[in-house]
Amino acid sequence: MIIQPKVREFICTTAHPLGCEETVLRQAVCAEGYGTVKGPKKVLIIGASTGYGLSARIGALVNLDADTLGIMYEKEASGKRTATAGWYNTRAFEKMAEQRGRYAGCINGDAFSREVKEEAAALIRENMGKAELVVYSLAAPRRKDEDGTVWSSALKTVGEPFTEKSLDLRNNTITEKTIAPALEEEILGTVKVMGGEDWASWIDFLKKEDVLAENAVTIAFSYIGPEMTYPIYYDGTIGRAKKHLHKTAQEICIAHPDVQAIVSVNKGLVTQASAAIPIVPLYLTMLYRAMKKRGTHEGCQQQMSRLFTQKMFGEAGIVTDENHLIRMDDYELEEGLQRELRESWKKVTPENLREYADIDGYWEDFYHMFGFGYDNIDYTKDIMP
Ligand code: NAD
Repeated sequence: MIIQPKVREFICTTAHPLGCEETVLRQAVCAEGYGTVKGPKKVLIIGASTGYGLSARIGALVNLDADTLGIMYEKEASGKRTATAGWYNTRAFEKMAEQRGRYAGCINGDAFSREVKEEAAALIRENMGKAELVVYSLAAPRRKDEDGTVWSSALKTVGEPFTEKSLDLRNNTITEKTIAPALEEEILGTVKVMGGEDWASWIDFLKKEDVLAENAVTIAFSYIGPEMTYPIYYDGTIGRAKKHLHKTAQEICIAHPDVQAIVSVNKGLVTQASAAIPIVPLYLTMLYRAMKKRGTHEGCQQQMSRLFTQKMFGEAGIVTDENHLIRMDDYELEEGLQRELRESWKKVTPENLREYADIDGYWEDFYHMFGFGYDNIDYTKDIMP
């Protein structure tokens, strides 16, 4: 089968197995540049197949030389459909881990469910003994509770509607978008899906099953961003969920005094999850351009390898701010850079878009996420999906 990209606005419905393997290999080469540090050797990653979770898994293998168990929710190929990118990424990761003599287990199922938690505890016990680090990197549109209730997350404002410039990804132009305020139940749903409740229940469960090592560390990912995206992000429904996640870290530490639960505030990046947030992609393309110009741009792998080697398991130990947050958004929120972005935001129009925004960089990252756009891969070749 010849596999070509099929793009529908912010998602690509096909993925290329060789291209996804290329993504994983390139990320591993990038991780190598950060060296190896002494840290946890048994790592559980929840949401391990794409984006930050995949990079954390590659970082665990390359920068920590660790065994990993990865949890994901991906689709296998069937008939004329390719598998999802996360499925191919995981196959490529497993091959790489095997070559390095490290265990790489995988559960493809719903991480919110009790069954997957039980399966994870059993696999940890059998193959790793106890987990020393748990990375929580889920980004999901909905969650089925243990009592069967289905919660959906919404990307909306809280209180007032918000109108702002937005990137129309269908034809790379700027349009104006108005985001409606969320209903109370949508706010609650977003907190249920993307807040800290499930993270805490994972830690409670692993502790009860005695598969968490003493002094284990657990980390979840958040985003804050600059004030100009606050109405849609930090002050919106998703921000409510992130604030809940921050609070959950403290609650986990109180419930389990020997577990260190931390939130890392990461940089805004193109991933399958972030591409779906309105208004944010325009900010991201402008951020990419400004950060590349300054030489401070990082992708998911640079973020995760810097996190492990410099902000968690480096000589300085765990480096947090006064709110107990690890700030991987330090380069993004640098004042000079943000001042420049505020100015550019006022000036950017459909006519001068490419002057201020790295549209090509956005699409390059987008296609790479699905294994497309690599020069060294022959996309006209017939391949088994
Ligand atoms: P992503 O979509 O690339 O990855 C999500 C992962 O979760 C995938 O591995 C997917 O298979 C898995 N997953 C989804 N639903 C699942 C389920 N029910 N059961 C098991 N696995 C499931 O997303 P991402 O952008 O890497 O986001 C990961 C975390 O990082 C999120 O908490 C997000 O808010 C946060 N974050 C993202 C950004 C950004 O700009 N992308 C910035 C800061 C923080």
